[in-house]
Amino acid sequence: MSYIPSSPPLLAAPSPASSEPPMFSSDGPIGEADVVNYQSPRLKRKYRGAWWDGAAAESREQEVKKSKLTRNIDSGVWLLSDESTEEDSMSQGTIPSLDDEATVQRIIQDGVEKNRTTYDLQYRSLQDAHLHHLLMLKRVIKPPLDPGNEIPGSEYYRSMVPEIFLDLSSNILQRLSPSLFMVEHLVHLILRQNNIQELPPQINQLHHLRLLDVANNELKFLPPEILLLYRRNSGFQLNISGNPLLRRPPVTLGLRGFIDRPLRWGGPPTLQEAIDMFQACESSHRKNNRLDAAFWYVWLIRHLEAIAERDPNRLHRTFDSTWFEDVLLVASTPVAYYECSGKLVPGSAAIPKDIDSLQFLIKSVGSVKVEPFHWWEPPCRSGMRSLFDVSLAKTLSEVSVDEVYELCGGEVPAQVQFALEKAEENVACVYNLLRRCHVCGRDYVEKRAEWLEYWVVPNEEYLPVMKRVCSWRCVPDHIAKKGHNIRAI
Ligand SMILES: [Zn+2]
Repeated sequence: MSYIPSSPPLLAAPSPASSEPPMFSSDGPIGEADVVNYQSPRLKRKYRGAWWDGAAAESREQEVKKSKLTRNIDSGVWLLSDESTEEDSMSQGTIPSLDDEATVQRIIQDGVEKNRTTYDLQYRSLQDAHLHHLLMLKRVIKPPLDPGNEIPGSEYYRSMVPEIFLDLSSNILQRLSPSLFMVEHLVHLILRQNNIQELPPQINQLHHLRLLDVANNELKFLPPEILLLYRRNSGFQLNISGNPLLRRPPVTLGLRGFIDRPLRWGGPPTLQEAIDMFQACESSHRKNNRLDAAFWYVWLIRHLEAIAERDPNRLHRTFDSTWFEDVLLVASTPVAYYECSGKLVPGSAAIPKDIDSLQFLIKSVGSVKVEPFHWWEPPCRSGMRSLFDVSLAKTLSEVSVDEVYELCGGEVPAQVQFALEKAEENVACVYNLLRRCHVCGRDYVEKRAEWLEYWVVPNEEYLPVMKRVCSWRCVPDHIAKKGHNIRAI
């Protein structure tokens, strides 16, 4: 007796020629089920091809035990391992529903149990609050090799410290989470295509990070702590393309060209010769009112001077590729000063909202200097903090914001209210009620001054870095005081 499907399909969609025909199973026609022929466990009836295809091959053979696959290296792709069951492999191969946080948790748990080092968590609709599951990654180790019955050679004695690769691209992350920065053995962290507006200072805790990819986010600037990653790991790579960064194109300076193009210059120039050459170019462009070109020569001159400041003997040497391994400060924006209330001081520069309002401050040791058109300098720059600031920082280092409200007993003065709101903002941004001054290292609630610095890193890209300080006195003299020989651009 042949089995007839209960309802035929509207259209017989052909299977792709490159794929195996799908296989289905069922308990067979209900008519065959009977207490007489009941077996335990009951064999499934298998159908190869579309279920409605009456001509499909039908078999009742015993389940064939699937072949076991082995994995010699951790590729990050979950395949059947010796311990895997069919249910495991199916669950790992499917894409979970968009809000399936439980699936992400299970992937991490499963990976940790097997000491996997690669975690692909793209397109999971992950939010910052979900990242606490990543703390489990701290338990991953690099297990020792099994020598079997052989005497272990030297290759079996290796570090058990893992190198973890984590891809969190294409989620909806905004502020990240302290848990992420506690996974200290991260070597690759991919955060492409999220909504990240600011990286926290905790990025510096990832001591082993070799690649940080934050392309296509909402970053306007970077934290100063990013520079420590370059100094610590000589091969550190950062991808920040596709962000609305507060810098003007071109994004790289291209000075390495001096090493690669000796013929153009009649041989590689010395550092001093290059500076002289650039100064002549800058003057020429300025005379011809090509201010953009002149501006870039000022930038290049300042970069060369910063190279010479590391070692004055370089001035009389020809270009060397090792000169570009340093992380060097080249320029900054004017300083934005704030009152105790958090308001911008009238007349002070503000942090630009977009690249059209960017102004630069470049102080070269030579005659070329760039300063903004408008300048505001505080009448005095005291480093003494008010009693309110000191007591607030001390209080918040001991108790929570809610406890402060309780202590105030319902009537909260406006100044305290403002400070507590800022402290709560700090928790969202830097995971702490208090921020740390980038110059003196003291803790504070609300910044008193901020500015952007432009640092050149080993690939000659220049990074906009946000500096924030606790008092006006913490603004360094070289950007707080007006210089001479100003050439406004
Ligand atoms: Zn300070």
